[in-house]
Amino acid sequence: MLVVKFGGTSVGKPERMKKIACLVTDMPGQKVVVLSALSGTTNALVRMGELILAKQADAATQEIDQLEKHYKQFVDELYAGEAYKAIGEEIVGRFFGLFRRLAAGHFDDRSYRELLAQGELISTELFYRHLQEQNISSGLLPALDFMSIDENSEPELEKISKRLKPMMASLHAADILITQGYICRNHLDEIDNLKRGGSDYTASLIGAAVKAKEIQIWTDIDGMHNNDPRIVKNTFPIANLTFDEASELAYFGAKILHPSTIVPARKYNVPVLLKNTMDEKAAGTVISDKISSQSEVKALAAKDGITAINIKSSRMLLAYGFLRKVFEVFEKYKTSIDMIATSEVAVTVTIDDLKSLDKIVEELKSLGHIEVEKNQSIICIVGNGLADKSGVLKEVFNALGEIQVRMVSFGGSDNNISLLVNTSQKDNSLKALNTGLFGLKE
Ligand code: ADP
Ligand code: ASP
Ligand code: MG
Repeated sequence: MLVVKFGGTSVGKPERMKKIACLVTDMPGQKVVVLSALSGTTNALVRMGELILAKQADAATQEIDQLEKHYKQFVDELYAGEAYKAIGEEIVGRFFGLFRRLAAGHFDDRSYRELLAQGELISTELFYRHLQEQNISSGLLPALDFMSIDENSEPELEKISKRLKPMMASLHAADILITQGYICRNHLDEIDNLKRGGSDYTASLIGAAVKAKEIQIWTDIDGMHNNDPRIVKNTFPIANLTFDEASELAYFGAKILHPSTIVPARKYNVPVLLKNTMDEKAAGTVISDKISSQSEVKALAAKDGITAINIKSSRMLLAYGFLRKVFEVFEKYKTSIDMIATSEVAVTVTIDDLKSLDKIVEELKSLGHIEVEKNQSIICIVGNGLADKSGVLKEVFNALGEIQVRMVSFGGSDNNISLLVNTSQKDNSLKALNTGLFGLKE
């Protein structure tokens, strides 16, 4: 069993949808095909939802009309014959009718999430019908019938597996089982989602739930690159990563993977292959438990929106139990900490979830003097055995030159060095490290 996920750009044009139909048909055995919404759709639905919430009805209608035009043209180009063109028009009419009804009715957070889910529902239905027109047998697995999260927004892997297996068994005659990425139900049985970019996570959860042979993530680039290609010009794809390396890169900002994608795959040791839909011959990246013997820097990633909180207290001096008290405050507000640095009289931690920042700061005040610094970025340098490589920190700081580093985390694991810099210095840092650590010119 394979799980094969195609992202927004891979399904974003009729000719690409036709191409992925050929790709999955050529893959041997049964596979679950996870699709994202067509590229640009989820962004459009977010804009639409925000306009409706802000009661800007005319602007929302404009947004709906514009997207509908795009879909009408899409189905006209996707289907070959008149019968399927008519089916395509019916699908588009039905979805956009729903958008207009949602916009006209009582619209709250729940309706907003229902609206966001439509992108994946429409892309999978269009694809299913395309396969049908081509006489390729396939089945639909409705994600809202098996994918669920608990009250802490954590996926319920056991329940997902229990629901999914009989659904798949009932469709055993079809080799291609199509399902929606990103969408799920929450503990109140409402429609919800796995956060932006969540289709990768869906694929990995399904891969773990059915103990797949491999999870393939097909996207618009030839694998995980050594640095962020949106910022740095000279980057290259990495052939192999361990689960640990890939999971650090995804968590710390490599957009090619949703931050949690690797967690279920690692738990059940299912390899993840990253492939390029636009260049299927490119080798891509294999993510598995195989560790390379060499200690080396493999890749960098950066995560924005980080806030540093500094707690200074003379009571910390020679005292035990102080850090526990600090961490309890973060635990109470379910806020996870990414980086920590301590001295004898102070501790600095970083967080990215600012929902409870005010309350956290208020409570920390009883422990000492608090300073908060926003607009920080974590630069994460990853490579197995990195920390054992002699002179690695010297290389990093030589590369950074005059760039000011606010915090360093080294030695927590042997495959990671994290640096905290002001976000205004992020691009420069990534470029300087690309030159200094990989010898690549800008
Ligand atoms: P999809 O729609 O297929 O999910 P995404 O846009 O979410 O695709 O992810 C692919 C994009 O991730 C690439 O086009 C690239 O710009 C970006 N990206 C950021 N960091 C990396 C990296 N280290 N390696 C590869 N791609 C990266
Ligand atoms: N369509 C969703 C998004 O744009 C999920 C995904 O593409 O992975 O965030
Ligand atoms: Mg993505």
